[in-house]
Amino acid sequence: MRTGVIGLGAMGAGMARNLAGAGLLACVWNRSAEKAKALAAELEVTVAPDPASLARHCDVIVTCVSRDVDVLEVIDALLPELEQGKVVMDCSTIAVETARAADERVRATGAVFLDTPVSGGREGAEAGQLVFMAGGDAAMVERLDPVFRAMGKQVTHMGPVGAGQATKAVNQIMAAGINQAVTEALAFGQASGLDMDKVVEVVGGGAAANWFLQKRGGSMVRGSFEPGFKLALHQKDLSICKQMLADLGVALPIVEMTLKHYQRLIQEGHGDEDISALYRAKRELFERGNLKAL
Ligand code: NAP
Repeated sequence: MRTGVIGLGAMGAGMARNLAGAGLLACVWNRSAEKAKALAAELEVTVAPDPASLARHCDVIVTCVSRDVDVLEVIDALLPELEQGKVVMDCSTIAVETARAADERVRATGAVFLDTPVSGGREGAEAGQLVFMAGGDAAMVERLDPVFRAMGKQVTHMGPVGAGQATKAVNQIMAAGINQAVTEALAFGQASGLDMDKVVEVVGGGAAANWFLQKRGGSMVRGSFEPGFKLALHQKDLSICKQMLADLGVALPIVEMTLKHYQRLIQEGHGDEDISALYRAKRELFERGNLKAL
């Protein structure tokens, strides 16, 4: 299975490396060409001059770009070289409707589209430990098992196209709540004068342990917010969730509150930092020493 990766960011670069390790990677493409050149040289694969050329030379096209509009732009660029026998699996986090629109365009060429958003963060992508939530043809998901296994530890078929993204929305609401809980509790610990390395270690070994505390607890208390997962991208995901909730006639407190907090941090220039930069706002609460909500 000749596989190509489009979008060599925090997630895509690790995914490409693991596909190369499994002997499945043929080709890469990235909008900023220098990233693609460097990675292709490291992995000894070809850099495609454009997405269509990558599609011409690959059976499986993995896309992992930022936003809905970016996914559709990449899909449109692939279309001239898509045909029966080729499959596009999109690992970006986008709206269910956008995944369905991509599916419609890809299907018209005879190729297959799967929405396959991931969880596991940059570390999961680098370690080949991602979890895939797949929507689309179940037989195709099964056929692509070697590709999924090269990049991840688990793939679950959730239903038709869009079901993967709907599942990812559940994940992103949960991630917002975890971010709120961890940043708030650690800011409290720091304000209480505790040894924060010990706090992260001991709390991380008990019932409140979680991935985010383990991976980001130490760095956030030291004031380092290197992504990871960019705050502006989680804002994008929660905006998608907000729309899905509105369709159900519901607004959820965690979603509303986190969107408000992220909006403020983005306005202050922190959108390209990791989502753990929410710690900045929580720390400020203690510095201001008042009881006002953010
Ligand atoms: P990132 O580091 O910001 O990388 C984004 C990638 O998308 C870059 O390669 C960028 O190219 C490319 N891109 C953006 N717009 C494009 C366009 N219009 N045409 C072509 N390429 C375009 O983001 P990331 O963290 O890898 O996230 C990628 C996707 O995975 C997002 O949908 C995100 O929500 C999702 N995700 C992220 C994580 C995480 O922990 N980071 C976890 C799960 C899912 P340039 O290099 O030219 O900018």
